[in-house]
Amino acid sequence: MPQQTRNHRLEEARRVAAAVGTGVLLGLAFGHMAWFIVGTVAVYLVWVVSELLKLHRWLNDPAHATAPVEPPDSFGLWGEIFDGIYRLQKREQAARAELQSIIDRARDSVVALRDGVVIVQGDGTLEWWNPAAERLLGLHWPVDAGQPIANLVRDPRFKQWFEAGDYSQLLEMPSPLRDDLFVQVQVTVFGNGDHLLVARDITRMHQLEQMRRDFVANVSHELKTPLTVVKGYVETLANNKDALPPRFGRALTQMAQQAERMDRLINDLLLLSRLESTQPDSAQASVAIGALLENIRNDVRTAARDKDHTITLRVQDDVRLLGNDMELQSAFSNIIVNAAKYTGQNGEIDIHWWVDDKGAHLAISDNGIGIEPQHLPRLTERFYRTDKGRSVAEGGTGLGLAIVKHVLKRHDASLEIHSEPGKGSTFTCHFPPQRIARR
Ligand code: ADP
Repeated sequence: MPQQTRNHRLEEARRVAAAVGTGVLLGLAFGHMAWFIVGTVAVYLVWVVSELLKLHRWLNDPAHATAPVEPPDSFGLWGEIFDGIYRLQKREQAARAELQSIIDRARDSVVALRDGVVIVQGDGTLEWWNPAAERLLGLHWPVDAGQPIANLVRDPRFKQWFEAGDYSQLLEMPSPLRDDLFVQVQVTVFGNGDHLLVARDITRMHQLEQMRRDFVANVSHELKTPLTVVKGYVETLANNKDALPPRFGRALTQMAQQAERMDRLINDLLLLSRLESTQPDSAQASVAIGALLENIRNDVRTAARDKDHTITLRVQDDVRLLGNDMELQSAFSNIIVNAAKYTGQNGEIDIHWWVDDKGAHLAISDNGIGIEPQHLPRLTERFYRTDKGRSVAEGGTGLGLAIVKHVLKRHDASLEIHSEPGKGSTFTCHFPPQRIARR
């Protein structure tokens, strides 16, 4: 306890003793000691109450709302109480001012951000946003506050994505304000189910991506015609091999093989560009998967005859899928052809099509060379191969699984890959229940 406080306490005790002592002395002098003691103690109490009232008045001074008001004059223990409260008030005011400056700085930095930041309440209504959000999403402060965000950002993709509540994937869409402005939106849920929405301007990235796609599509398209001519001549020459000197035979075979490879590559590139740059058909056909798999199985069996694979097809539930038959044929065929390519002599390949309450599933398993775990996350990237030499030797383009990924995405489906090096691999396509056709 500080020395000063101890002194003030002693002083206060002395004051009480003085009040009682004065009563006793007056009592000794004039008699009626009890009355004199009561009287002097009462005077002391009146002083205490007047100090209390002073304290009460001071604490309730409305001027405190802006800044602590200087305490009234007092002395002794009361003076210390007033000073103590005043010090606490000052300290609290300083702490509040510091907190406010931190909040102001945080808010200023969010306001200055080039990314749009929007706070959306749990019920989907707008609470606060920064100026960039006005520029990117077309919100207007303050008239839009309290409005449901889905009424203002009207893109159907946004409404569906926001209401579905699965924000693991980012959403890319044109800005509601201008078609040539592209935004990427991400949402983080915080607090009591409130949403922090961040919108980034990705117009430049989008344009570059579009340029890349157009470039690949144009190059592939431009190469197609000269290649068809070259292939035609090579075939004609190959058909007349006997009329040519024997040393040209090997060269012609190689030319035919490489032209064939280039043709496959260009076809895969064109298919990929189409899958990337066009919207899926809105009217989906009902595709008979059992029959489709049967055809692919027969084609693969014929193509990989020399490997003597056992290819089993188990169509457990012969349901149809809503989708595009050419695209599904291409995706399934790529997986089944891979199983044959990367499985050695007398290998076993199993194709299994079934339905459960989570949707429809196609699993293609092989007991081939398998894949090291570090490659698995990157397998669906274009031209990613675990062994380029083997892929090329097997006639691979390195684009098969990229095509699979895009086709599945266009059918709301996902790809799961399990593999063990030396034991084999299983590629499973999962289709959601809404993709199952009711015939
Ligand atoms: P590729 O034309 O090279 O087969 P894909 O995109 O179809 O290209 O496949 C990418 C890579 O994934 C392949 O090069 C191969 O390394 C690996 N892969 C795909 N399927 C299998 C499989 N069933 N078993 C082992 N490796 C596989």
